[in-house]
Amino acid sequence: MNEFDFIRHYLQKQLHDPSIVLGIGDDAAVVRPEQGKDLHISKDMLLVNRHFFDDMPPEDLAHKILAVNVSDMAAMGATPKWVLLGAALPQLDSAWLERFCQSLFHTAQQFGVSLIGGDTTRGELAFSVTIMGETPQGLGLRRSGAKVGDDIWVSGQIGLAAVGLQLQLLQKKLPEKRGFSELTALSAHSQQACLQALARPEPRLALGQALLKIAHAAQDISDGLVQDLEHILRASNVGAELWEHAIPTLPELQQVLTPQQWRQCVLAGGDDYELLFTAAPQHRDDIRLLAQNCGTRVSRIGQITQQDLKIVNQHGQTLELNQKGFDHFAH
Ligand code: ADP
Ligand code: MG
Repeated sequence: MNEFDFIRHYLQKQLHDPSIVLGIGDDAAVVRPEQGKDLHISKDMLLVNRHFFDDMPPEDLAHKILAVNVSDMAAMGATPKWVLLGAALPQLDSAWLERFCQSLFHTAQQFGVSLIGGDTTRGELAFSVTIMGETPQGLGLRRSGAKVGDDIWVSGQIGLAAVGLQLQLLQKKLPEKRGFSELTALSAHSQQACLQALARPEPRLALGQALLKIAHAAQDISDGLVQDLEHILRASNVGAELWEHAIPTLPELQQVLTPQQWRQCVLAGGDDYELLFTAAPQHRDDIRLLAQNCGTRVSRIGQITQQDLKIVNQHGQTLELNQKGFDHFAH
């Protein structure tokens, strides 16, 4: 199989979306955005042994590379429409590609996106997905709209993917990086939930779209709760008080992890792909209701203030946090 067989056989499918004028097969794809809509465009790269382990099942990998990109659309309240897939593959292994592509198309359908093009090259396993989506004109959510007095909300549960990563590190017994051995005390059910959170993140698409016109600021949590909250604070030129005890996570984590480890996973762990957003207190009931309609849990975890980020525990003490999140260029 060569590159062109791969494209024809595995990637080129009949597309039934009228917004796609021309899909895979020419020098460029052609799409027709809807009148009165804003186009939102974003890209996330995933590299082997940096964002995923080389033995990750291809089904999970295909899900994840789409999900993390769809999550950026969710954060803007956009409806995802089209994706381009840049793929570097060490070889064209038909058994692996069969599994990968089946999951890719299944997941794409689930998220309502169509694969309209990309590029394929030989190299160390890596993916770069460009995603495009739409919102009604002028309504897309941003990081920059948070106002003093806003509630800070988060969807789902935080820190599970970070625990999942620690569990995987434990299994792999890498010499340079060991997972938290305390996690062996975690119930099998919780371990499974954490591994699932890491492998199969669920972007909060319905919630993001429901928050248009309600949330003042939003973003998805990919690099750690505190670090991503700081992005909203910087963009909005405000501060925040974050209530550590209000952050939704697996209750069992508190029993097995040290406070330091708990914070590393819950405050600073990455890969959650939950939504972090702010809104005026008068919308509390609306937000609970719309989240319920989306089948997503939401929790109020703090308040926007004039300046500085203060993390407070249940006793009202302010915490120092040295490791805020994952920064690829930090030491
Ligand atoms: P070109 O040489 O003009 O860049 P290619 O031979 O790279 O064209 O690609 C041929 C067609 O296959 C194009 O429509 C391109 O978008 C599509 N394509 C190539 N690789 C991928 C991929 N990994 N995912 C989706 N479409 C792809
Ligand atoms: Mg090309």
